[in-house]
Amino acid sequence: MFDLTTLIENLYLVGPARAKLLINLGIHTLNDLLFYFPRAHQDLSKFTPIADLKPGQQANIKAKILDVKSFRTKVRRFSLTQALVEDDSASILCVWFNQPFLTKVLKKNEYFIFSGKVTFKNSAKGGSASGGKIQLQNPVYEEVKKEQIHTSRLVPLYSLTANLTQKQLRYIIKTYLDKTTLAEYLPSEILRAEKLLDENRAVKTFHFPDNYAALSSAQSRLAFDEIFQTQLRVLQSKKSREQKKSLKIDTAISMEEKIRQLPFTLTEGQLQALKEIINDFNKLFPANRLLEGDVGSGKTIVAALALWLVAKNNLQGALLSPTEVLAQQHYGNLLKLFQNDGFDLALLTSSQTRINGNPATRATLLAQIASGKIKIVLGTHALLEKEVKFSKLALVVIDEQHRFGVQQRSILKQLNNTHLLTMSATPIPRTLALTLYGDLDLSRLKELPVGRQKIITRIVAEENRAKAYDFIAKQILAGRQVFVICPLIEESDKLGVKSAQTEFKKLSEQIFPQFKIGLLHGKIRPKEKESVMLEFKDNRINLLVSTSVVEVGVDVPNATVMMIEGSERFGLAQLHQFRGRVGRSEYRSYCFLFSDDPNSLQNPRLVALTESDNGFELAEKDLQIRGAGDLYGTKQSGYDFKIANLSNLDLVQRTRNYAEKLLNEDINLNSYPLLKQKIQAQPLVHLE
Ligand code: ADP
Ligand code: MG
Repeated sequence: MFDLTTLIENLYLVGPARAKLLINLGIHTLNDLLFYFPRAHQDLSKFTPIADLKPGQQANIKAKILDVKSFRTKVRRFSLTQALVEDDSASILCVWFNQPFLTKVLKKNEYFIFSGKVTFKNSAKGGSASGGKIQLQNPVYEEVKKEQIHTSRLVPLYSLTANLTQKQLRYIIKTYLDKTTLAEYLPSEILRAEKLLDENRAVKTFHFPDNYAALSSAQSRLAFDEIFQTQLRVLQSKKSREQKKSLKIDTAISMEEKIRQLPFTLTEGQLQALKEIINDFNKLFPANRLLEGDVGSGKTIVAALALWLVAKNNLQGALLSPTEVLAQQHYGNLLKLFQNDGFDLALLTSSQTRINGNPATRATLLAQIASGKIKIVLGTHALLEKEVKFSKLALVVIDEQHRFGVQQRSILKQLNNTHLLTMSATPIPRTLALTLYGDLDLSRLKELPVGRQKIITRIVAEENRAKAYDFIAKQILAGRQVFVICPLIEESDKLGVKSAQTEFKKLSEQIFPQFKIGLLHGKIRPKEKESVMLEFKDNRINLLVSTSVVEVGVDVPNATVMMIEGSERFGLAQLHQFRGRVGRSEYRSYCFLFSDDPNSLQNPRLVALTESDNGFELAEKDLQIRGAGDLYGTKQSGYDFKIANLSNLDLVQRTRNYAEKLLNEDINLNSYPLLKQKIQAQPLVHLE
């Protein structure tokens, strides 16, 4: 006996060796096996008459076996099996190498379907082309039965692993599809309203569709499921968060004075976001807010003011950054901002421990965090280590949240009563905001601070490189600074040491010997990184060569040129991030896109970047061009939307409505046990 939770090694046809292979594919249970959907289908539903076969063609024939024999070749002594087969139009020879058992399978006078490549074979005595013959080499064969699974239909093609063939996997899946009936888990009102196939039918059809129309309705049903289930998980987690209790923050403490002292006036968007955060504080449950805003829109100050309020409440706050460089930069800024506020500020990364600007031992730091003396701690993921214990942690801010991994996210999940404010410069398309991020409240900084000019973005053809260098030299002579970003060229060079070093050498020795050039890449030690950043900030370095490793958040307003090498290798969101490093002052700024690809002038991503400076627009474009998989941590979050197209806003909204209605009636889904099971089977792993 078996059910959907039966481990695959206990399934007939599988066994321990094959189970290992299936586990490689992520298939652990019978349920996983049935939901292991094909990556594509091959259309073998039409037959070609043998007389019409042409060399080179991928063909599908239905024929009677006239003769089969197997023998060893004289020359290289391998076994050759030949079957002469015929249909109404002609006959043809099928040949297989090293499969002598085929003489037992392919029986004379029986009908088979063969599918494979038509090759041209010179006859042994031959010479002249007309003496040659066509044949089918190593075709897939299947006896003509009532139901074909490997040939003569839309045949599913699965992603495989070594030592497992399409035919084997197809056969296992088909066998268990036939042995199983999936009980419908969707409420029948939804099924009816959406005119969906039932799940059992949809799963079976998605593997073995009769035609493309059937495949498409199966797809629609399963896409609906993916998004609907996500909505339920996300909304359930939101509702359960709302049952928790947060630390009390007195929001009556006036921030006006603090805001007045800032060197600039806050934008409308910043004030609004701050208001929304304070509003969260007034509620009695932990908030989970995402502050989205284009690069340079000024998210940091919003977070800083929220942290300030927390510190003034004698509570603690933390600001997490994805990189050392960024953590240090935030630390420097906040030290200055809070210098007269009379509370303690610390920096904690894997290489640095500081209190109020002075070095401190890790032990002291940890003790003062635990006692509550330190009010605000800035750092990298080192902050998430077990030894770091806060006494009254009220707010955690996470900068560039999408750069944190699954493990770090799951630690954050354990922050039970802490307000969470995540920040991202990668604007999330509307559909994703309503699905994956649907448990978050959103604040958006739509406009940039006043006085920023549009950044001029150009794709530069290789022949204009010298001109670009001339232009850069002029900018530097006028006192401005320049970034040069290098891509990671080789897989093995994950830290980008090689490409950045080569570029650094070229620029400092040949192109700009007269200027001071700096270098940053993933292998440079944190201390040195800090000093390079500091020199760049102080304009003691004119041009900084860097890899994408240090991409995020760096703020040097005097920099006006962003030059990107191998720009076709970067995603649109990332390119937009790079560009946002410049254009942060009153000076006119430029972004030059270089590419190793001679067709770069037509590259849709690069063109999109030259046409738009709006991060939200670019995010929607990126979603269309690349799909959701690579973006927004959908893959790393464990949400792999295999079927659903996440740019379908209409579907996203409908599923959300259903999910909300259902949860409002029955938060624990107790009246829908099957649905409940599905939701629990895949827990939510992103920030909640
Ligand atoms: P991001 O949203 O990309 O993190 P930052 O917070 O680093 O942006 O802000 C970018 C720059 O803009 C910083 O130098 C910051 O001091 C400045 N800034 C922030 N808010 C304003 C404002 N309202 N007016 C002028 N400059 C601002
Ligand atoms: Mg930032």
